[in-house]
Amino acid sequence: MSATTADRGGDPNLSIVVPCYNEAAVLRALYTRLAAACAAAGESEFEIVLINDGSRDNTWEVILGLCKHDRRVTGVDLSRNHGHQLALSAGLALCRGRRVLVIDADLQDPPELLPEMMRLMDDGADVVYGQRRSRAGEGRFKTLSATGFYRVLQRLADVSIPVDTGDFRLMRREVVDLLNQMPEQHRFIRGMVSWLGFNQVALPYDREARGTGETGYTLRKMVRLGLDAITGFSTAPLRFATYLACSFLVIAIMLAIYDVFALILGGTVRGWASMFLALLVFSSVQLFCLGMLGEYVGRIYIEARRRPLFIVKELYRAPGAAASRLPEHGLVAERDLVPEPGK
Ligand code: UDP
Ligand code: MG
Repeated sequence: MSATTADRGGDPNLSIVVPCYNEAAVLRALYTRLAAACAAAGESEFEIVLINDGSRDNTWEVILGLCKHDRRVTGVDLSRNHGHQLALSAGLALCRGRRVLVIDADLQDPPELLPEMMRLMDDGADVVYGQRRSRAGEGRFKTLSATGFYRVLQRLADVSIPVDTGDFRLMRREVVDLLNQMPEQHRFIRGMVSWLGFNQVALPYDREARGTGETGYTLRKMVRLGLDAITGFSTAPLRFATYLACSFLVIAIMLAIYDVFALILGGTVRGWASMFLALLVFSSVQLFCLGMLGEYVGRIYIEARRRPLFIVKELYRAPGAAASRLPEHGLVAERDLVPEPGK
């Protein structure tokens, strides 16, 4: 496609990118199941990129252990918790495979779907995304909010973002390279991939319950992801103020007529309740619209700062593979780029 995809002789056929936040307990099982899935897909030349997103448990130690056990495992240690989407961005920027599988660490997305995904890609798909038919082990709130959110997003977004999909997907190198070139700071990666286009194919699956541990997505992080998705892919909320203003204009005219009549009939004091109500309604609508504007203005400010997306504190790659690619929108602390020989 472009010069960036040329000359990658030594690159593995497949990269598997896994953001990890407090996932120490599940990582070995993940590694075993991933390796088995690769074998089932007939892939021996793969790399697994595990990104430690500032975990508070011993995730990094477990990752280092896996790196030392198998040279196909690369460990990336971010300098702090950057959040799922940025950890994923770091992995996508550093991986080298001709195809890239993105998967959560907690085994909610079955690695066993890999052979089927590879087959669909052999048949011409550029992106194969997992689409959740069901979600096991997740509370009513999470299921309902996710179901509602993906449908609202689909109505508002400027591009069609398939409902009930996460970041579990297999992508061609061309798509990953393009994704890596997109500079936006607020990254809703599944939306960015949809925006890119190409031939995208859904693979329906049943989402399993978490292996162990608990979700790293707090309510706060979920709201943030939702806002990034909506503001990143739609300007419809900015038009909200106009729609609201139009509908409230009708109410305001009716109130004005009522006021005039009340004045004529001498019942002015009775109008206090409606006055107060109108005041409440209009001021909260104004605040809401201001907040909406603030969301966009804040994002413009952050985009304008152009900070790097992520900071890699330490990078553990098998000798020979190291430093073959530097991320475009992130920084890597130089001292740790190449592991000591025999380490
Ligand atoms: N994750 C991360 N940083 C965070 C939160 C989550 O890298 O700040 C990772 C986490 O380890 C997992 C994936 O993102 O591999 C999805 O997170 P989680 O399973 O907690 O989300 P859920 O499945 O509950 O939506
Ligand atoms: Mg999960």
